[in-house]
Amino acid sequence: MKCLQCNSERIVMNVRAVDREQHHKHDLTLEVYENPDAWVFKGVHEGVLKGNVCADCGFVMFSLSVSDAQKLERHQK
Ligand SMILES: [Zn+2]
Repeated sequence: MKCLQCNSERIVMNVRAVDREQHHKHDLTLEVYENPDAWVFKGVHEGVLKGNVCADCGFVMFSLSVSDAQKLERHQK
C-alpha cells in the first residue's frame, strides 16, 4: 500500500479508530440500514473502520475489511 498523498510506502496498517464516551472506548463503524424508514427494526449492518496512516506525511486512509465491505454491499438498498 502507498500513501495517496505523498506516495510513501511507510504505512502503519490497521490502526484502530476509537471513539471515547466516559470511560468506554468504541470502534468507529460504518452502518447501512435494510429499512432506513423503520421506527424500530432498521436492520443495522456495520463494518469496523480501520485507519492506515502514512509515517511520512501523516495522511490517514480509512478502510474496512473486504468481508465487512461486502456485507454492507449485500444489505444496502
Ligand atoms: Zn504520505
